Amino acid sequence: MTGIDSLRNILELERRKGYTDKAVIGGLDKYLHKQAGQIRQSINNPQLVSGFDELNLAKSNYGSYDVDERKRWMANVLGWLDEMEGKTETDSSQEPVVSRQETGDRSQEPVASSKESGASSQKTEVRSQETVVSSQKRREGLDSPLTVIKGIALSVANKFAKLNVRTVGDLLYFFPRRYVDYSRRKPISELIEGEEQTIMGTIWQARVATLGNRRGTEAIVGDETGNVRVVWFNQPYLAKSFRTNAQVVISGTVGVFKGHKVFESPEWELLKDKELIHTGRLVPVYPLTQGLYPRQVRKWTKETVDGYIWQLSDFLPSEIKTRCQLLDLPAAIAQVHYPDDLKMAERARGRLSFDELFLLQLGVLARKRDWKEGQPGNAFHIDQEVISRFLQCLPFTLTQAQERVLQEIITDLKQAKAMSRLLQGEVGSGKTVIATLALLIAAANGYQGALMAPTEVLAEQHYTNICGYLSQVGTQEPGSEPGEGTIRCYTGFLSRPLTIALLIGSLSNNEKERLHDEIKKGKVDIIIGTHALIQKEVEFNKLGLAVIDEQHRFGVLQRSALRQKGFNPHVLVMTATPIPRTMALTLYGDLDLSVIDELPPGRQVVKTKCLEPQYREKAYSFLHRQVSNGRQAFIICPLIEESEVLEAKAAKTEYERLSREVFPGLKLGLLHGQMPGNEKEEVMRHFRAGELDILVSTSVVEVGIDVPRASVMMVEGAERFGLSQLHQFRGRVGRDKEQGYCLLIPEKLSPEARERLRLMEKVHDGFALAEKDLELRGPGEFFGTHQSGLPDLKLAKLTDLRSMELARQEAITLFQSDPNLKKAEHQPLRQQLSRVWAKGAEWS
Ligand code: ADP
Ligand code: MG
Repeated sequence: MTGIDSLRNILELERRKGYTDKAVIGGLDKYLHKQAGQIRQSINNPQLVSGFDELNLAKSNYGSYDVDERKRWMANVLGWLDEMEGKTETDSSQEPVVSRQETGDRSQEPVASSKESGASSQKTEVRSQETVVSSQKRREGLDSPLTVIKGIALSVANKFAKLNVRTVGDLLYFFPRRYVDYSRRKPISELIEGEEQTIMGTIWQARVATLGNRRGTEAIVGDETGNVRVVWFNQPYLAKSFRTNAQVVISGTVGVFKGHKVFESPEWELLKDKELIHTGRLVPVYPLTQGLYPRQVRKWTKETVDGYIWQLSDFLPSEIKTRCQLLDLPAAIAQVHYPDDLKMAERARGRLSFDELFLLQLGVLARKRDWKEGQPGNAFHIDQEVISRFLQCLPFTLTQAQERVLQEIITDLKQAKAMSRLLQGEVGSGKTVIATLALLIAAANGYQGALMAPTEVLAEQHYTNICGYLSQVGTQEPGSEPGEGTIRCYTGFLSRPLTIALLIGSLSNNEKERLHDEIKKGKVDIIIGTHALIQKEVEFNKLGLAVIDEQHRFGVLQRSALRQKGFNPHVLVMTATPIPRTMALTLYGDLDLSVIDELPPGRQVVKTKCLEPQYREKAYSFLHRQVSNGRQAFIICPLIEESEVLEAKAAKTEYERLSREVFPGLKLGLLHGQMPGNEKEEVMRHFRAGELDILVSTSVVEVGIDVPRASVMMVEGAERFGLSQLHQFRGRVGRDKEQGYCLLIPEKLSPEARERLRLMEKVHDGFALAEKDLELRGPGEFFGTHQSGLPDLKLAKLTDLRSMELARQEAITLFQSDPNLKKAEHQPLRQQLSRVWAKGAEWS
């Protein structure tokens, strides 16, 4: 998206939101001040740059205006954008504009170059072609190159290729990003200054005129209520197109010049017996690239819709269309380009986005089926004895949610199909015990189980915790604890001793080699580790279950690498990043989903407070008191999106400042993303061991870390983080009996930031926050990487949960009745499915 496109989107959003300055987080001014330079650069017509400069967006003051002032300001800027689109288009027939002098006043343009007369005849020719009625059916197929469309030369086709439009079919699926509403015709006497309006009338007179000191076209158009002057700057050649007494439709914004109303460079169209496409209706606005102009593109899409749409076969089964009240495909395509009204545009988009989601879901279901069918797994025998022995020795009882999820997992493990399950659970909801039980079941069946965590600290943490659980029952066999506790052995669970090992990169080569050897020989039952587990030297004897913790921290390849280490092992992936269910089912669609949606009883709610920056000193003394009481604290530095290097630098400066000026008597540690892995681990280890009082960190600290003595999480620049991320931070404290505190300190507390951060004070449910976050910030952050391999979504939004759910239900129903899409009536659907999924990569 170009800067201009985003600017337009944001402004329109702001307008829809009622000029409340809520379109961008942090406020419109902040956005504009930051982006104006970039937007300016994306204007490729020097003529327009000066108009842009007049808007003075780099120093906008929108936030301080009242609503009326905001409206006026908005109309002005949007007017400029519209003008720019129109303007860019009129340049299509002209020579490159670089030689033109820049000038602010459009009516004072320098005299046209002599080249213009040549260009004008070209333009006239285009116009005369346009009058050919193009609604006859075309024989060429939808896969034909664009050049079969009249007027699309190879050079134009190459420009379309930049927008991924290569065939006639692609052009049908090249959707407008919005519409300009020129549908309401106004009598000339009722025209209002400053509004987008459409008139229809008779040309009384049209002539080449000098406007300012450049030549242009001037016309007088009249209807039964009055006359109005219409001018087109720089387009003297237009005059020829306007014969006296011809009927014309004019759409655009009405201005006032010397006290009289005037249309300046409006859209125009001669009224003949063909359909209007540029005026007098909802006019589509297409995403463009350099060298493509709105008028041409509209002409071509119209011609394509008229000529080829009959060839589209509607692949959706008709029951589904009826049930979901969807338009037929040809109608939807026709209406999405040239809608009768906004309601039809909406319905067209509804149908087309349903298609996207439905095909997505069908593909996801098919993959899951293929994966499962192609992958016979190892059916585990479930020994209730083992399970209850383990449960009895826990210092707590499982929550209902844990029980339920455990049963779901057990049911999977009993099948001769490999389990493939995603376990989602709020921070601290107790996923590790469940994973431990699954690992134990694998071991009881004579298989090995592996648990992979994203960092050494987390792996060690799991190892310690799991050993802790096991030691409650089993006695650790003396003498079987070689090395530095990286292999341990427990009796009392199985009929034989149970061996558990920790494999991480920082072990000595000797230790690693020994472990590799033991793993290969099958002498270790449960192996916990990091990426070290998927190195090629690691060979399992009989891997039956792979558990992946905090799965979003691993790439697809790393996950499948662990899976490949066994013969179709059962796979359990765990995450504390809550994603609304339907979305999770789509993104990780080949996984079944289990959710632990309940925290263990008596869990502290971390007291969360948003503090104005001026109370920072108070926060510091609070930290001080907590540390004197034997607690520890995190201080998170602001997110600097552009650069991890800058972020690290800022964290370092803050760390030094805090050490020197604020907490000279305390032990502080520093953690940031630019540190080498082992240094990070080192710092975390010190912090965990209680050797540091305060950890100053960038956002890298967010995942899974369990430091029970930490009681305060202080987040600087809190407004820059997403709610989910803040919730993850907050989950780092209050993990034992003592009260935990989360202090959010925004840099600048705008009303929106205050509202968002207030949510953190009130809402402690990660799922609710995730949904709110998606609503407020969009899905980008979650899905950047995971989305790869999914077909493109042009219209549908992953955040539109209701549509996703509908599409999913329909896909499931269809799948049940015809899982292989073998029925004759499903053939078009089957073809469409393989078309959209053709590019799909391996995922999850
Ligand atoms: P997460 O789901 O974030 O990985 P953990 O598995 O680390 O959470 O569990 C957090 C803490 O809660 C651990 O100390 C664990 O022993 C404890 N815990 C787990 N289940 C329960 C339960 N049902 N009741 C009480 N405490 C529990
Ligand atoms: Mg965890």
